[in-house]
Amino acid sequence: MKKIAILGSTGSIGTQTLEVVEYNQDIQVTALAAGSNIKLLEEQIRRFHPALVCVWDEKKARELATAVADLDVKVTSGMEGLLEVATEPQAEIVVTAIVGMIGIRPTIAAMEAGKDIALANKETLVTAGHIIMPLAREKQVRILPVDSEHSAIFQSLNGEDYKKIHKILLTASGGPFRGWTRERLEGVQVEDALKHPNWSMGRKITIDSSTMVNKGLEVMEARWLFGVEMDQVQVVVQPQSVIHSMVEFEDGAVIAQLGTPDMKLPIQYALYYPERRDLPGDRLDFAKLKQITFEAPDMDVFWGLKLAYEAGTRGGTLPTVYNAANEYAVDKFLKKEISYLKIIDMIEGAMIHHEVKENPNVEQILAAEQEAYDYIESRW
Ligand code: NDP
Repeated sequence: MKKIAILGSTGSIGTQTLEVVEYNQDIQVTALAAGSNIKLLEEQIRRFHPALVCVWDEKKARELATAVADLDVKVTSGMEGLLEVATEPQAEIVVTAIVGMIGIRPTIAAMEAGKDIALANKETLVTAGHIIMPLAREKQVRILPVDSEHSAIFQSLNGEDYKKIHKILLTASGGPFRGWTRERLEGVQVEDALKHPNWSMGRKITIDSSTMVNKGLEVMEARWLFGVEMDQVQVVVQPQSVIHSMVEFEDGAVIAQLGTPDMKLPIQYALYYPERRDLPGDRLDFAKLKQITFEAPDMDVFWGLKLAYEAGTRGGTLPTVYNAANEYAVDKFLKKEISYLKIIDMIEGAMIHHEVKENPNVEQILAAEQEAYDYIESRW
């Protein structure tokens, strides 16, 4: 029986991972971690019987420990607990479904402990790809992409030589505001931005999809995962979300992965790779679909995507500042403290202000994150 640990088990990816586990009946969940949703975490403990769980919030962890006192499960909290879950001895794969840069340290700890990583937490690769990818080679662990686009690229590259990649064609739905002008975006409210046309996801990533910052983060993620340069990753808007991404090879051949938008497919593919398994759900009906259309992204309206190319190309601590400023700004937008377009203003401002450090270690990455927060706090 395969054994896994899940960081962020109560979120969108975490719960869908547990649905995949439940459907297949041959994976054992040995450890779970969540932020504060102890109600759902308790249900998950009672259903999947992990030996260890972590709740970030210490008070909530104590509450949970009391609630599950009848069970044989250890409850931990904080970063120490998160690291314990990430390195839980029985788990072979750690699913990093936690949101934000908090995922960096547990991901590194899991790899150092020899675990394969089913990676949803793109922030880790965006900010620390230069540490993660060499570490994966050194420890001989696999980074199995969960993000649907990266899974599509990974599937398109099955059996191929990565050195023969000419271009990665990263598809984007364009989000709910595709075709809008900047002026029109000024009035966007939280409720509007939380309506994604095709995918159902966590709140933060849904906002990121609407600004196309998510696509920018994915370009940087792809660059590290597949060992290409930033300018080899081209974003293609494909509003139907049918083609999940493509690879163009040296000889001009283009290989793509298509399917209905269902995160359980990439999650299951990562958990069982290289095996492909049955998965219930809707299938593509090409007769009904009739057409798949393509557009170039509008980088003037969605200039957060342009800033991502700048951040990724410059490298060093700049992708961290891009990501941290976005995390901070999106949080403020979700709390209705700033307007929609301020999100990108804040990213741009933090990037201009930042003095880039080359080849940063984890401490320097976390310091750059804090610096971006402090700058935004003092400036806005
Ligand atoms: P959600 O917001 O739905 O879930 C986040 C999870 O992380 C929750 O379980 C939350 O716990 C947990 N969490 C937050 N902070 C902490 C903390 N300090 N310690 C422990 N656990 C914590 O996010 P998503 O599932 O949407 O996204 C997760 C990651 O996957 C992100 O990096 C995202 O970019 C990526 N991703 C998501 C996709 C999607 O379809 N949702 C697609 C591709 C990538 P709690 O519920 O208790 O707050």
